[in-house]
Amino acid sequence: MFQILLILGLITLIYLIAREPKSNFVEKSTEMVKCQNCDINLPLSEAIQNGDNWLCSNKCQT
Ligand SMILES: [Zn+2]
Repeated sequence: MFQILLILGLITLIYLIAREPKSNFVEKSTEMVKCQNCDINLPLSEAIQNGDNWLCSNKCQT
C-alpha cells in the first residue's frame, strides 16, 4: 500500500514539474506594450499597431 502512494506521489510530482516550463514560456512570450493614447499597459497580442506605437483598442485610434 505504501508503494502505491509513493508511485502516485511521484507521478503527481512529475506532472507538476512537466507543467512548469509551459507556464513560464507563456509568461515570457507575453510582451507588454503601452498604449500611445491612454498609457495603459497591455499584452502585445491584444495591442493594435499604429506605426511605431501601440494602441489598446479602436477607441484610442482616433
Ligand atoms: Zn488606449
